Amino acid sequence: MRDELLELTSALKNQIISEKESRSGLYSKLYIKGNSGALTSAPVDTAVNNSVAHVPSITLEDIEKELGDCKRCKLHSERHHIVFGEGSSTSDLVLVGEAPGRDEDMRGKPFVGRAGQLLTDIIKAMGLERKDVYICNILKCRPPKNRNPEPDEIAACEPFLIKQLDVIQPRVICAMGKFAAQTLLKTGTAISMLRGRFHSYHGIKLMPTYHPAYLLRNPGAKKQVWQDVQVIMEELKQASEISI
Ligand code: SF4
Repeated sequence: MRDELLELTSALKNQIISEKESRSGLYSKLYIKGNSGALTSAPVDTAVNNSVAHVPSITLEDIEKELGDCKRCKLHSERHHIVFGEGSSTSDLVLVGEAPGRDEDMRGKPFVGRAGQLLTDIIKAMGLERKDVYICNILKCRPPKNRNPEPDEIAACEPFLIKQLDVIQPRVICAMGKFAAQTLLKTGTAISMLRGRFHSYHGIKLMPTYHPAYLLRNPGAKKQVWQDVQVIMEELKQASEISI
């Protein structure tokens, strides 16, 4: 009887270890350490199992601490604040933009200017509050005069976004604007061609759509954004029905 119990305990232990390994984070799936110790992209086509409770080994606070007073790229020299991101660390939806603008740089918060107000309205139209989702950018520091992000800046900053996504494990990522969509999907395809359908970001559903700042200049594109948002809402609704 004692032997049987020991055998059972050992089998259970092995099962727990194997489940833990199969749930290992997105970050480890996306990045491997090269011989130099530098993080390099490792494109692994692995589905993330959202039906299993994810227990991240680190927190968003840990990542922010690791980022510290970051000087990993040249953008540090003119920034006022690092804009790390804000919202729910367990949200099913992460909205990713390009980079902080002037208002965000001054306040250290993502999407707080005019485009941010429009994003807040979009989130409300989805029946959510800002605190229910997580909002961040590809870059955490403002490029001078809001110029486009440069490849070396993206390469320096993106690993921290990957870690944030690994902790949050959202069901859906909404990539807002050309840079967010093209950077995450590693493609040069125009946002107008990418939007409107889900793509896979290492197993997480990613919906590209227009950036709120673009909508301020082109209000006619709100219709397409609303179509994209409705597809996201349907996905979130289905996911919540499954998890009930
Ligand atoms: S943009 Fe990112 S990598 Fe560059 S200094 Fe800011 S936090 Fe660091």
